Amino acid sequence: MFNLDDYIRKVPDFPKKGILFYDITSVLASPIAFKYCIDKMTEIYKDKKIEAIAAIEARGFLFASPFAYNLDIPIIPIRKKGKLPGITLSKKYDLEYAQAEIEVHSADVPKGKRVLLTDDLIATGGTLNAARSILIEGGAHVPEIFGIVGLPFLNYQKVLDPTPITTLIEYHSE
Ligand code: AMP
Repeated sequence: MFNLDDYIRKVPDFPKKGILFYDITSVLASPIAFKYCIDKMTEIYKDKKIEAIAAIEARGFLFASPFAYNLDIPIIPIRKKGKLPGITLSKKYDLEYAQAEIEVHSADVPKGKRVLLTDDLIATGGTLNAARSILIEGGAHVPEIFGIVGLPFLNYQKVLDPTPITTLIEYHSE
């Protein structure tokens, strides 16, 4: 039987000591595992009236793109500050020891439409929370959040409440 866990590379002490990094390049390197992820996303959301998908730079783009192609919907890239050339909406948020900032082209946010917000992995939920707020500021609805991998022990549910969150696999300890 197919088990997605077999395709996720676990790298201890990356990017720093004490962090177990769940790497999805090993999913990308397996057409079986990648197809499993895209087929699952498509199956979960195909009847949920999703009108666009927003994804976080850079790994989020890889899963959002084939999904958008399958559903025939637009992709809204959410990028690190300074990468998008047009007029943007932006949001600063706290990381463990620093601040980060993400941006979206305001013209690309579909006003009044149902946007699925995605990333490859949901850890603290801080990045998705900031992304959700700029999408809503731009006039979109964010009815659901999706990640391939979830780390619920980092309490992302609380940060992302009340938006429903779906993941394909969860890990429950560090
Ligand atoms: P978050 O804490 O949810 O804002 O996560 C920020 C970003 O860091 C996400 O895009 C994740 O892909 C990445 N990330 C955080 N923790 C991990 C981890 N343990 N393994 C792999 N990626 C991670």
